[in-house]
Amino acid sequence: MAQFPSSLIIVGGGIVGLTVAVAAQARGHAVTVIARDATGDTASGIAAGMIAPALEALNDPESPESFGRLRAAQQAWFDLFESWPEAIRGTLRAAQQACSRYVWPQSDNTSDHVTPRLKAMGVDYEALIDEDLDAVAADCNGVRVAGEMLLEAGGFLAALAQAVPVRMGNAVAVTATSVTCESGEVLSADAVVVAGGFASRGLAAAVPSLHALSAIKGHILAAPGQGGFGVIRSPVGYLADYGASARFGATMEFGIEDVTVDPAVVAALKARAHEILPGLDLSQATPRAGIRAAAPDSWPMIGRDASSGVYVATAMRRNGYIFAPLAARMILDMLAGQTPPELVLYDPNRF
Ligand SMILES: Cc1cc2nc3c(=O)[nH]c(=O)nc-3n(C[C@H](O)[C@H](O)[C@H](O)COP(=O)(O)OP(=O)(O)OC[C@H]3O[C@@H](n4cnc5c(N)ncnc54)[C@H](O)[C@@H]3O)c2cc1C
Repeated sequence: MAQFPSSLIIVGGGIVGLTVAVAAQARGHAVTVIARDATGDTASGIAAGMIAPALEALNDPESPESFGRLRAAQQAWFDLFESWPEAIRGTLRAAQQACSRYVWPQSDNTSDHVTPRLKAMGVDYEALIDEDLDAVAADCNGVRVAGEMLLEAGGFLAALAQAVPVRMGNAVAVTATSVTCESGEVLSADAVVVAGGFASRGLAAAVPSLHALSAIKGHILAAPGQGGFGVIRSPVGYLADYGASARFGATMEFGIEDVTVDPAVVAALKARAHEILPGLDLSQATPRAGIRAAAPDSWPMIGRDASSGVYVATAMRRNGYIFAPLAARMILDMLAGQTPPELVLYDPNRF
């Protein structure tokens, strides 16, 4: 067991690794982040940055249970908040101001199940007034949902990366107290955390629980701002509009591990966007693709690998921006010798 405070090496410079690093540093740990890719080229860098427990849970037949887990994870942002650098706190405050809506064509029966499910989850919502959306949506009904957040991923990751030491490098082997880089350099610390998204699986020879990871590729369109709408979700996709820029996404392509942009998938995604939001200007859109890491039960893997003693924070699937602070809190609790109550749900050794 590492003593507290201790030195920590974190493999991964996406939203999860950086959040663990910033939170650990704020608790007094000496941290080093090792990242193979530029932040813009990670799943975290291309993500829409929605922290959307209610609208994510709507995707899930077990909505109330999913919503409870996702909302509890979101709360961890605010549990960590007070000790964080002001630049990061300011971004989180702004993220709370973004409007989140769910819309559907007037011609379909989505309203029959959306509002009852929101009620069953205990989510606050109000019906949308049509004119709110006239500029982009056609003949839609919808609701405005309270309590969701929207972070512009690039800016937020940059703020996190500025707050902690980040070294570029490719970790090829890890133990509970060391990381070997492709360059041959060996770094040592009191504890090691693997937060490498789907690429964490490349370290499964040393950290066997990581064998459970699978890939879900996602295409997304990066476009100029569309008028500052915040989030508009629908049965066929979502717009995340930050003001100066926007994203429309996303596909879920199970088992695909490459990040090549597929023109046929992009064309289908654009058609989906215009089906629900015909006013969207996607003429300047740049397609991007990234890989989400998933566990067999679709929930994160956060805790300590039983065989190697390495800490693990991955398998965030569609929800890395929701789960990152919970991952940080759980790992910090474990480093302090405590057993976080969420371990029963997210133990990486459960498969
Ligand atoms: C199109 C799309 C849209 C999304 N939208 C949202 C959203 O709106 N909200 C949300 O919550 N989630 C969203 N997600 C999911 C989210 O992006 C992921 O859950 C999240 O990015 C996972 O973060 P991570 O830090 O675990 O991994 P990643 O972002 O994949 O980062 C992994 C990091 O580890 C490094 N790394 C890996 N292996 C090694 C190694 N061996 N040595 C050194 N470094 C290594 C990489 O270089 C990188 O820095 C979206 C995903 C996609 C694909």
